[in-house]
Amino acid sequence: MDEIDIKAPEFAGFFEAARQGALAFPKCGSCRRFHWYPMKACPHCRSRDIAWQKVEGTGTVFSWTAVRHAFDPAYKERLPYIVALLEFDDAPGIRLVTNVEEVAPEAMRIGDRMRPRFHDSGKVTFHPAQA
Ligand SMILES: [Zn+2]
Repeated sequence: MDEIDIKAPEFAGFFEAARQGALAFPKCGSCRRFHWYPMKACPHCRSRDIAWQKVEGTGTVFSWTAVRHAFDPAYKERLPYIVALLEFDDAPGIRLVTNVEEVAPEAMRIGDRMRPRFHDSGKVTFHPAQA
């Protein structure tokens, strides 16, 4: 099954960090705030002094949905799968759209704690953080 492969150069820092087993988001060197998606200028202060900042990666479910219809036949065998919007403890302002695995839709809750898993392909998925 083909995965979505984001080749846009502005995402290179994200996938480079992921291959090293870390989450990273763009952070402005001027106002010190994070933003997502990557941009050439900070959306908060318009500075172009932006660098990738690695973060712990543990986060919280802000919102989520269960996908039950495959818009692309390649995804049909995965159904249902969960797409979630996650917030991160040490990256305030970031909300990342991502896949959550190893949780049944019936068990998903807003506020659940999640941690990342880094795959050899560079893909990142999230899983329940065990207490
Ligand atoms: Zn800024």
